[in-house]
Amino acid sequence: MKHQLIAAAAGLLLLAACAVRQTQISDPTPAVPVPTVPQTETTAPRENIPAETVISSGDDWKLTLVNASHALPEDWDAELTVLSNGKRVDSRIYPALQRMFDDARKAGLDPIVGEGYRTHAEQQQMLDDRIDSYLQEGRTQQEAEQLALEYVAVPGTSEHELGLAVDINSQSGNNEAVYVWLAQNAPAYGFILRYPENKETVTGIAYEPWHYRYVGDVAKKLTAEGLTLEEYLAQSP
Ligand SMILES: [Zn+2]
Repeated sequence: MKHQLIAAAAGLLLLAACAVRQTQISDPTPAVPVPTVPQTETTAPRENIPAETVISSGDDWKLTLVNASHALPEDWDAELTVLSNGKRVDSRIYPALQRMFDDARKAGLDPIVGEGYRTHAEQQQMLDDRIDSYLQEGRTQQEAEQLALEYVAVPGTSEHELGLAVDINSQSGNNEAVYVWLAQNAPAYGFILRYPENKETVTGIAYEPWHYRYVGDVAKKLTAEGLTLEEYLAQSP
């Protein structure tokens, strides 16, 4: 109960802080606590996943690594801020996201958060829906599962389950301009292009110009040096 009260209070502060702004991502509703998400045991082997030993994320929450070979930490627990379109993000990244959107809009763009936090159950549902759609096309169960896993991460291995990743697109469909602006400017707000071109063998994910991940201050360094989060963590002591 105490936890919920604190969450609600934090949400009110956000509301108060944002009430005077005209250009914002949303009118955030009070933050809600995130249930601890159980992690899955298995990660199906997928192409392009480096067969390397576990990379340590260290103690910094901002650098928590989640990919096909690094499942969501069992004790991962964060508070969420709900955006006006219903999408949710970790409350700790909300201020930086807000600043980035304010500035993108000043530059004449119309970014929108197309996807933020996903629960374990929602990730599972996405995978199930994808499998169903292949089954309806007449694929066998095995084929359908294989195909679906090429596009949808196994529950427990999607960065969206952290709440630190957002898919950003253009509200009017002018995605390219938004992607170009983000590629140039997002690191200044602590966000990295998480799945760059030509890094599929490291990240295990194809180029996604819309998917940004909050890592904080090191975003500029990572971007300047052309490092993925995996590469940065592997070389950190
Ligand atoms: Zn994404």
